[in-house]
Amino acid sequence: MPPGQSQDPTTAAEPTSGAESLAARGLMVRRDLLPRGIRDQRVITAMTTIPRECFVEAGIPLEEVYADGPLAIGLGQTISQPYMVALMAELLQLTGRETVLEIGTGSGYGAAILSRLAERVVTIERHRELLEKASGKWQSLGLCNIFGQLADGSQGWSGESPYGAICVTAAALRVPGPLLDQILPGGRMVIPLGSRSVQSLCVIHLEASGQYREEQVCGCRFVPLIGREGW
Ligand code: SAM
Repeated sequence: MPPGQSQDPTTAAEPTSGAESLAARGLMVRRDLLPRGIRDQRVITAMTTIPRECFVEAGIPLEEVYADGPLAIGLGQTISQPYMVALMAELLQLTGRETVLEIGTGSGYGAAILSRLAERVVTIERHRELLEKASGKWQSLGLCNIFGQLADGSQGWSGESPYGAICVTAAALRVPGPLLDQILPGGRMVIPLGSRSVQSLCVIHLEASGQYREEQVCGCRFVPLIGREGW
């Protein structure tokens, strides 16, 4: 994938001091993640480490950047709310040794969080502009274990399949068949399933026996997964 074309989106997007940003991340963790049950210390450390302001439009005040809501990132797409990013990461139960497949790169923030929790992240986006921007941001932050690919992620990415974990950040009516085939036995997929307007966040476990087991975690609202196996 070609690296981001633009100057340096990280510096362009960071109008405040590192100390202010760190304090905002600490507040986000104490206010929105810990009280709602996020417990995985590695997830909390990743959420405390990755500067979210680098992945949104420049000039947004830190209070808004770290508020617990989604933000527009252009092309009708969003960066997910911090709690949802942390919850999905926790549900993936990453050990640090696996390759994770993310479907829906968006701003690149979710992939940046996952890159602190897994050995390697493969992330797929259908909009070239978003992927190129995200790629520039990872480079600026020195996140070297993320591989971004422009493709229809509803078909997964067979290049590095099977994956220890799959994180789908766009909503589907049903689990795309090709994604099921790309989970390692003992691995799992987190995916929002439901209508275009409202979904349930689900975890699909692939047992060592080869059986799939589905767990519904909570209600959620994601932009649709567009593609051959999506909407
Ligand atoms: N993880 C992202 C982040 O941290 O900013 C948030 C992703 S946003 C909620 C969902 C993304 O999925 C959008 O960028 C959208 O373009 C992408 N998307 C939708 N359908 C897709 C598909 N079939 N393949 C790849 N990306 C897709």
